[in-house]
Amino acid sequence: MFKDLVSNEKAKKFLQNELKFRREAGTYLFYSVDRELLKKFAKSFAKGLNCSTYEDDFCGVCENCIRIESETHGDLEIIEENGGIKIDQIRELSYKNSINSYEGKSKIYIIRDVEKMRKESGNALLKLIEEPNKGNFFILLSNGLNILPTIKSRSILLNIQAETPEELGVSKFEYDFFLGDSKNIEEYKRTEIIDLKAGASYQEIGKKIKLWLNTGTLLDKAEIYKSIRDFINTKEYLNTVDKIYFVEEIMQSGADRELLKEIINYAVSTIGKNSKNLEKLLELKKMMRSPINMKNFLLIFFSEL
Ligand SMILES: [Zn+2]
Repeated sequence: MFKDLVSNEKAKKFLQNELKFRREAGTYLFYSVDRELLKKFAKSFAKGLNCSTYEDDFCGVCENCIRIESETHGDLEIIEENGGIKIDQIRELSYKNSINSYEGKSKIYIIRDVEKMRKESGNALLKLIEEPNKGNFFILLSNGLNILPTIKSRSILLNIQAETPEELGVSKFEYDFFLGDSKNIEEYKRTEIIDLKAGASYQEIGKKIKLWLNTGTLLDKAEIYKSIRDFINTKEYLNTVDKIYFVEEIMQSGADRELLKEIINYAVSTIGKNSKNLEKLLELKKMMRSPINMKNFLLIFFSEL
């Protein structure tokens, strides 16, 4: 139920108000730095739209609510694609949108990572949301408002604030370690076996990445984070050779581009305001969107850090 979500009172009120209007179609753009929290809010809103007994709040126990939660509801489609929704997928949605006949139930399309989609996909998506069929709802999720202005202006915007350490029930240290990511923090709380204070040498980063690529566990992901933290804490004492070694370790570990981006992001966020070069680092981070040589990029990045 909305009341079980521990954060974002304003956003919840806003959504409850929207549901009162009983709109017949609509496009929403939810944005937040916390990708999982966005999905949680989108699914809650979807439940609100289709709950059998909705009254100021969805029930969470009817068949519609349960199926939306387990993502097996016939009228819910969640599109998540590495690199953002593709143009073929939008064409498919347009087709579904055109043949969908309205029987009083809402068809809901949750589209994740819209900030990543290419321009042509953006234009196709714009056409789709310009003429939604009765009963069709599009919930676009983005990490920010850096998307096509025409899509923004066609959407009802809602900011979802990242949850605070208090809301998530962890210390500031634990919160910062996971960069405030609610999904990781909840898993961390569930498992309770990760010692965040124990160190991991920056020299072991390659080994840690290989391990995580095999297991995919948060425990091993945390080890990668620790190695990055160690690099940041000791960087003053490292010479050029040490830094090259660090980058070599990362490059030879088999990390894909997504993981490299995450490593960069983790380093920038961890060092944050303490860096004299923050502006420059953020500028460099933007460069990762273009098809540059990653090894050269990492060498420059970790020298500047
Ligand atoms: Zn329900």
